[in-house]
Amino acid sequence: MPPTRAALLGPPGAGKGTQAKRIVEKMGLVHLSTGDILREEVARETKLGHQAEEHMVRGELVPDPLIVDMIRKRIEQACEGFLLDGFPRTVRQAEALEEIARLDVVINIELPREEVLNRLTSRRVCRNCGKIHNLRFNPPADPTRCSACGGELYQRDDDRPFVIENRCTVYQQTTAPLIAYYRERGLLQSVDGAQPSDRVFHQIMTVLAG
Ligand code: AMP
Repeated sequence: MPPTRAALLGPPGAGKGTQAKRIVEKMGLVHLSTGDILREEVARETKLGHQAEEHMVRGELVPDPLIVDMIRKRIEQACEGFLLDGFPRTVRQAEALEEIARLDVVINIELPREEVLNRLTSRRVCRNCGKIHNLRFNPPADPTRCSACGGELYQRDDDRPFVIENRCTVYQQTTAPLIAYYRERGLLQSVDGAQPSDRVFHQIMTVLAG
């Protein structure tokens, strides 16, 4: 079987990160999350981290050339197949991606805007292992500690209400056009992200098996 090359699309908070972690574990793919890579660059205080941070704290997209440069090598090196999470986010990024690799499928996790807002305001991430929690929908026993490793839970800077609004607007205007882009290319498969997380996972696995 040739390696799988897939991308997850969907609004912030649709569950891309949570699903991606399970999918790559099951399928042995490389997880390429541009958001995670950027947060790491910010934490390490690299030049790219500094350039990216000013956009990220406002809920804006980091400029296309920086993102494409950052992801290109990682895609080229992922010979065992990859799952893109949070990339591409603009039509220009999708066009640049076509020059780097051919995708087999793009999975669009759908979620209505009200649900996006509900989920993001109560999202907390483990500082130690990165596990994503939700204080409202699937709360850990202790709201300050990770259910998997006991690490400290924190709220991402860009999960604060004002920034969330901006991220949703950016998604609608700049990223949602990719739905039509990939539908036209016969690559799009949509999944209802409002279902329980396990159901979403099984549907995605069915799509990837097909
Ligand atoms: P995420 O974790 O995917 O929600 O990404 C967090 C933030 O990182 C976004 O709000 C953007 O500021 C930035 N970012 C992540 N991926 C991209 C991308 N493909 N293009 C531009 N900015 C991105």
